[in-house]
Amino acid sequence: MLELTKNQIEKLFDVGNPITLNEVLNARERRVSQQESLVLDHRSQTILVVKSNIPGPIKNNQYLMKIGLWGQKLVSKTFNTSAVLINDDNCGYEAFYVIDIPALEVKEKMMLIEDSYPLGRLLDGDVFYFFENGVQTISRLDARQCFICNRDSKSCGSQRTHSVSQLQEKVKELCLLQLKEEK
Ligand SMILES: [Zn+2]
Repeated sequence: MLELTKNQIEKLFDVGNPITLNEVLNARERRVSQQESLVLDHRSQTILVVKSNIPGPIKNNQYLMKIGLWGQKLVSKTFNTSAVLINDDNCGYEAFYVIDIPALEVKEKMMLIEDSYPLGRLLDGDVFYFFENGVQTISRLDARQCFICNRDSKSCGSQRTHSVSQLQEKVKELCLLQLKEEK
């Protein structure tokens, strides 16, 4: 269940601090090191990292974190396990899981979540496991689609095809759609 009211969805991007490049780099470095140590500590299990992928300079606040929380609850239910680690700061919301089923199966189930719910489009699930002395990952076979124009989301992102306000409006729309589906 998404714990946001229509009124809060309207204010989704009205509060919070824009991220800085330094924050982004630090957050990435922290995430990679957290992923790696989880993989190395759980060599026979699968590590799943679920990030909420919020477009624009405001990545997190008391409303946006509810999208991350929504994803966290759904993923916990799907894999019948709680997150072992959560990052909830200015750069966004990330939840880490240690799961007892094979990596490919985790990836498939996570892709189903990403593709089946309106807010699933805002979740990025990365899968890691230990194999032959190193940390391995599984990529999606199909590219993620841009949630505005349905073309390859990577090219829209790098070419800044859509304005920040257009992307933020779409996020609000997806939240409203999610509320509607949960009724
Ligand atoms: Zn696009």
